[in-house]
Amino acid sequence: MRKLWFQLIEWWRGSSGSSRLCDSALLNALMEHLPSNIYFKDRDSRFIRVNAAAARWFGLNRPEEAIGKTDYDLFTEEHARPAREDEQTILRTGKPLLHQEEKETWPDGTVTWVDTSKMPLLDSAGRVIGTFGISRDITEKKRIEASLRAAKEAAEAASRAKSEFLANMSHEIRTPMNAIIGMAELLLDMDLTRTPHEYAQTILDSGESLLGLLNDILDFSRIEAGKIQFDPVPFDIRERIGAMMKGLAVRAHRKNLELACCIDAEVPEIVVGDVGRIRQILVNLVGNAIKFTEQGEVVLQVGVAERERDRCHLRFEVRDTGIGIPGDKLQAIFEQFEQVDKTTTRRFGGTGLGLAISSRLVEWMGGRLTLRSELGRGSVFSFTLPLTVSDTSRAVSRYAGPPSLQGMRVLVVDDNATNRHILEQTLRGWGLAPLSVANARGAFEALERAYAAKAPFRLVLTDLHMPHMDGAALATRICRDSRFADVRVLVLSSAGFADDVARLREIGVAGYLTKPVKQSELLQAITVALGPEYAGEDHLPQGEVETSAVRPLRILLAEDSVLNQKLAVGLLERWGHQVTVAENGQETIALWEQGGFDLILMDVQMPYLDGLQATRHIRRCETGATRPIPIVAMTAHAMTGDREKCLAAGMDDYVAKPIRRQHLQQVLAGLFPPAATSPE
Ligand code: ADP
Repeated sequence: MRKLWFQLIEWWRGSSGSSRLCDSALLNALMEHLPSNIYFKDRDSRFIRVNAAAARWFGLNRPEEAIGKTDYDLFTEEHARPAREDEQTILRTGKPLLHQEEKETWPDGTVTWVDTSKMPLLDSAGRVIGTFGISRDITEKKRIEASLRAAKEAAEAASRAKSEFLANMSHEIRTPMNAIIGMAELLLDMDLTRTPHEYAQTILDSGESLLGLLNDILDFSRIEAGKIQFDPVPFDIRERIGAMMKGLAVRAHRKNLELACCIDAEVPEIVVGDVGRIRQILVNLVGNAIKFTEQGEVVLQVGVAERERDRCHLRFEVRDTGIGIPGDKLQAIFEQFEQVDKTTTRRFGGTGLGLAISSRLVEWMGGRLTLRSELGRGSVFSFTLPLTVSDTSRAVSRYAGPPSLQGMRVLVVDDNATNRHILEQTLRGWGLAPLSVANARGAFEALERAYAAKAPFRLVLTDLHMPHMDGAALATRICRDSRFADVRVLVLSSAGFADDVARLREIGVAGYLTKPVKQSELLQAITVALGPEYAGEDHLPQGEVETSAVRPLRILLAEDSVLNQKLAVGLLERWGHQVTVAENGQETIALWEQGGFDLILMDVQMPYLDGLQATRHIRRCETGATRPIPIVAMTAHAMTGDREKCLAAGMDDYVAKPIRRQHLQQVLAGLFPPAATSPE
């Protein structure tokens, strides 16, 4: 192209000077056939010569007709004036203007677009004697661009409308759901006969699954809209995953499945990541594994795939021994609303959204969810996530075994090989010397052998539910045998049944843990069981009696819905608190001004003055002297950013509706720590 220009200029110079290239066949052909418009103008912007394409573009019969004309003769002033100004600039500066997109308006009203380059025209002495240019029709390209832009804007507007609709729907549905779930929970706490109890339980279960579905749909639409936000924080991976697995244990144990969790020793203690999202993915995968497994085990394994100083790639793997997935469905189930067999939906429930959400979340966090499966034998879902290793990892890890445990012999008894393997690995990581056996008889023999060899075991970790002789029977034999007076027995069981606890306490076991056991829990149970000052029955868990650890509070409840008022009052009064209800923001402020409250529970959407406005008002009025009153938001808005809005308004914490009593209790305990209360 450059060469062509050079030749063109040479030609021009030639034709006005020495005529060297004047009749060059090549250039004449170029002027005749090049589809782009080429033109030459004098210093007054009059055309001196144009090529055939330009003549056609100008609507002329022959190129010669252009000579002597200006843009003002061909275009409207709207185009002619700026074109003229450009040429003046080139004449003044001697510099070209390259690749400008120009709008051309013609006298008949049509509009065209060209990509144009304009350059100074020099004579043989190098003086600027005019301009010349080349332009190309880009009208179609501009039209497509404009329609794409319009389509994009329309799509964005539609997507915004969809998100808003979802947020509103979510709010509208959550409010009555709050009442349905809460009322069902209150009903279940009453002395009901069997049938009404079953009805109430069904209402609660259906309410919860409806809420789960609502959350899934909201989540999925947020991911699809690219609106998902991640909130990376440092977290203790063993604690958080351990707690999550405990939450899923009830479902697994109801089906008599072993649920195990194995976090390799090299996994760092504290990593930085969005623990909520990681939890959501794992709950989905482990939940599915439990759902689609009839017998055997479900195991979550976490290991290090790659480690470079403060970055590490953690590999998460969820294995089950369930029904498996046929080869031709391995890919499809990651799509939304896809299920292997729609006819099983009724049996297993579910919407087919879980894996679509999980795989997208994993991708957003920089990994990929993959699946291996064998029909009838089980499935393995795995993914690797890049995470930062927190520099807040403790200098002395809480997962390091204390020196006193080094080399201590421990006997592990479990009929499940995976559990034995995990326990052995964990204990060995702490410096203990574990031996594992698969049944109570083997355990007793190992104890006797060790006693005879004068290398006795100090500790037995036994599973409770085993075929032939269970853990309780084994514990009884050990505790009654004087040879094993120094042996401490810890029992691991699937479910924390109160009667198990009582029975074990009588037998004399040193501790009782529910599976899957968290590492911190196990280490604590071991040190407590071995330390003489701790040994004994004090450390048996108390069972899950729902009593509030928080002292009785005077609570101002700001809530406009009568149903929700009833629900919250019912809950709070049962925990021993005294509740005063305000119907709206103004009433809340008036009651708060009278004083005497420990806490305000503030609904966000209320008539007249909403919760955010009321909070801002209260915070403005609180001047120095008194301690600011804790305000906890209760809102049906579940979209990201609402929490921030509440905190920005001056609230201390936030509970989403439907209010889950456990969460509310946690929030109350956080604001009024039980330790800070008086012993009365
Ligand atoms: P849902 O479980 O709500 O139907 P998911 O997206 O979580 O939706 O799963 C989609 C489908 O993939 C399930 O319906 C089931 O057919 C199949 N699936 C998922 N996990 C497993 C598993 N561990 N074993 C067998 N099938 C599975």
